[in-house]
Amino acid sequence: MNRTAIIGGGISGLTLALLLREKGHDVRLFEASDEPGGAIRTTRSPDGWMAEWGPNTIIESSGRIKRLVAMLDLEQRRRYPDSAANKRYIVRGGRMVPVPDSPAALLGTPLLSASAKLSILREPFRRRSRNDHDESLADFVRRRLGEEFLKWPIDALVGGIYAGNPERLSVRHAFPRLALLEEQHGSMILGQLKGGIRRPPGSDEIPRNKAEIFSFDDGLQVLPETISRQLGDAVSFGSAVERIHQEPPDATSPTRQGRRWQLHLSGELQPQDFDTVVYAGTSFGLSGMALPESLSGLLAPVCDIPHPPVTSFTMGFRRSDIAHPLDGFGVLVPGIEGFSILGTLFTSTLFPNRAPDGHVTLTTYLGGSRQPEIAGMDEEKQAALVLADLRKLLGLSGEPLYRHRIHWPRAIPQYETGFGRFLELMDRAEREHPGFYLAGNYRTGISVGDTINAAFDLAERIAGEPGTDQAGKQGGAQVDSGQDDGKK
Ligand SMILES: Cc1cc2nc3c(=O)[nH]c(=O)nc-3n(C[C@H](O)[C@H](O)[C@H](O)COP(=O)(O)OP(=O)(O)OC[C@H]3O[C@@H](n4cnc5c(N)ncnc54)[C@H](O)[C@@H]3O)c2cc1C
Repeated sequence: MNRTAIIGGGISGLTLALLLREKGHDVRLFEASDEPGGAIRTTRSPDGWMAEWGPNTIIESSGRIKRLVAMLDLEQRRRYPDSAANKRYIVRGGRMVPVPDSPAALLGTPLLSASAKLSILREPFRRRSRNDHDESLADFVRRRLGEEFLKWPIDALVGGIYAGNPERLSVRHAFPRLALLEEQHGSMILGQLKGGIRRPPGSDEIPRNKAEIFSFDDGLQVLPETISRQLGDAVSFGSAVERIHQEPPDATSPTRQGRRWQLHLSGELQPQDFDTVVYAGTSFGLSGMALPESLSGLLAPVCDIPHPPVTSFTMGFRRSDIAHPLDGFGVLVPGIEGFSILGTLFTSTLFPNRAPDGHVTLTTYLGGSRQPEIAGMDEEKQAALVLADLRKLLGLSGEPLYRHRIHWPRAIPQYETGFGRFLELMDRAEREHPGFYLAGNYRTGISVGDTINAAFDLAERIAGEPGTDQAGKQGGAQVDSGQDDGKK
C-alpha cells in the first residue's frame, strides 16, 4: 500500500487525503495548527452571531464539488443564499448602484456613462491581442472596453476577489476565462452570447452563470470539519512538518525506484517514512521547511509569490440602525471612489441565521494590494474606518453590538504577470522528484472551488502513477480553464 503524507489541512490537503484514501492509499495528514480548514474557519457565538474568517461561500463550479458534498453526507446541511441576496452593488459617485442584470437595466444604469455603454457594442469589433505576451488585466480591459470599465466595475471586482491590483494581475493566469473568451470567440461579449468558453469533452464544469454559491447551516467550516472527522486518526493537528528529506536510492524498495521520503515533524525525534509526499500548505510556508537542496533551489522563487494583507471585520447591528434595505449580496468599492474599505458582504442577507432575530451582520474587507497600510493598522483605527464608510454607504446610525476581526498578514496569492515562471518551476520540481507533489491555492486557482477541483485532478494523477512509472504524469498546473473568476 502506498504510504502517502499530506502536509497541510486546508481544503486542498483535506480533500486530497479523502480522495486518495478512497483510492487505497495509506494516508497521513499533518496540520500545523489545531483546527482543520486553513483559511476556512467559522466562529459561532452562543448568542446567535456567526462570522467567517476567510471565505463566506463556495461556488459550485463543477459536478465534483457536488460529489464531495454528497460523499460527506452534507447535502441536508448545505445552504444556498436567500433569494433576497441576488442583487450586487458597486459604488459610483459615492453611492451604491445595483449591477445591471439585464440589457434593459444596462441601458439605464448610472454605473456607466453613455460612452462606456457604447464600448460594449464596439467590443466584438475590437481586434484580438496579436502577440502572445502575458498581458495585465488592466491592459486587457483598456484594450477591449476602455478605461471607465477598468476604473469602476473591474477594479471593484478585483478588489473583491483577489484584494489585488488589475495593473499587476495577469489576465491569462488570474482570469483565464476572459482570456479564453477572446481567444476562442474573438470577443468577450460574443463569447458569452454563444454560451461561454468551450469545455473539453467529458468536463463536468458548471458554467458560471448557472453555478450556485453555497455554505452550510453552521458556516463553511462544516466542510473541513466533516472531512477531518471522516479521516479520523489519519489527521495529526499541531504537527508542523519542519524538514523533508529524500533517502538515497535503495534497490530493495519496491516503490519509487527505491526512493523514500522522510518527514521530520515538530516535537518528534524520529522521522516518518513515506512513498509519496504532497505539500498542500501555502507557498510562503515552503520557506519554513528544510527541503532537499535540489527542491529548495527550484522552489525558492515560489515562496515569494506576493500575498497582500487583508483584514476581515464582521460586525453585528440592530436591523433598525441601518437605513439601507440590505437587499443583496453586498457592495464592492472601486479604488477611485476614495473609501477605506474594499467592500462589504451583507452576510445575514445571504444566510439569515448569521445574526439573532432583529439584527444583521456585515462582513467588511480592508487592505489588499490597494491599501496594505490600512490592513496594518490597529483594530480600533480599522473599526473607525469601517464604521465611517458604512455610515456613508448604508445609512448606519448605531454602534456594533458584535465584532469579530481577523487579520491575514498574507491573505491571497496574486497571479501577477510572469506567474507562468512559478508554474514551470513547480512542474519541474515534480518532474525531477518523483513522488513529490505540490497542491494549493498558489498553483491551481485561488477559490475554494478551484482547490477542490484541483484536488480531484491531483488524486487521479497520483493514483494513476503506479510505482516507479511516471508515464501518466502531466504538467501539474492547469490554469487554463478551470478557475473560478468570480467567487465573492
Ligand atoms: C479573507 C479571505 C477571503 C476569502 N474569500 C473567499 C471566498 O469568498 N470564496 C472562495 O472561494 N475563496 C475565498 N478565499 C480563498 C480561499 O479561502 C483559499 O484560497 C483556500 O481556502 C485555500 O485553501 P488551501 O488548502 O489551498 O490553503 P490554506 O487554507 O492556506 O491551508 C494550508 C494549510 O497548510 C498548513 N501548513 C502550512 N505549512 C505547513 C507545514 N509545514 N506543516 C503542517 N501544516 C502546514 C497551514 O496551517 C494551513 O492550515 C478567501 C481567502 C481569504 C484569506
